[in-house]
Amino acid sequence: KLSKRLETVASYVPKDAIFADIGSDHAYLPCYSILQGKAKAAIAGEITDGPYLSAKNQVMKCNLTNVISVRQGDGLSVIEDGESVDCITIAGMGGALIKKILEEGKSKLTGVTRLILQPNIHAHYIREWLVDNGWELIEEEILEEDDKLYEVLVAEKGEAKRPYDHYSYEAGLLLGPILAKEKSETFQKKWTGEYHHWKSIIAKLEEAGHTYEKNEKYQEIIKQMKLVEEVLSI
Ligand code: SAM
Repeated sequence: KLSKRLETVASYVPKDAIFADIGSDHAYLPCYSILQGKAKAAIAGEITDGPYLSAKNQVMKCNLTNVISVRQGDGLSVIEDGESVDCITIAGMGGALIKKILEEGKSKLTGVTRLILQPNIHAHYIREWLVDNGWELIEEEILEEDDKLYEVLVAEKGEAKRPYDHYSYEAGLLLGPILAKEKSETFQKKWTGEYHHWKSIIAKLEEAGHTYEKNEKYQEIIKQMKLVEEVLSI
């Protein structure tokens, strides 16, 4: 059985897609998407030996070697020039690494129509990259599994800034423009949690004699707290 997290990612893979799952590890996501009759074919990309071998084994075990190509390499470099890939999934990494993989693999994105990204932390790096590169966020989800909160971002080529009209752009980047509008219970849990965590850091900074005027970390935290206050009444 697939985790709720990866199941959510899989739910956004378009029907009959040919997709590349980057950092696939055990290749559960491509195997599942094909066995469910959703995707037509997939590439499972992995940079590390162990996960690459476990992806190979899993694909063999599922008898899917004819439709899933397991490849070892860095990021989008596993996609060959001119190879037709409709969709890319990148899940279970930090936002900074996902952004780096997209940025370095830009030339491989020309034929891609959808990106499904699941950062474990720092989703704002990805949102900013999407705007800067002409990708429109069309859907966002937040979910809880095993006491962890995960965000899933779905983007398509288009009017990159459109979802950001409700709150300030900065608040949209940090909290997610679609998630902020929906304000689900899970969303509120995440940001009230972060807010109280920041508050306790500020208290510790004050105890240690730091002030807003003289401490950059202090200023950064206050800035983020204000962005949360803009969206939630805390
Ligand atoms: N995507 C799976 C999931 O969500 O369950 C696996 C997530 S696992 C925590 C992250 C995987 O990404 C690791 O197996 C790691 O080897 C791989 N990885 C990290 N950087 C990568 C890169 N630049 N290119 C390809 N794979 C990478």
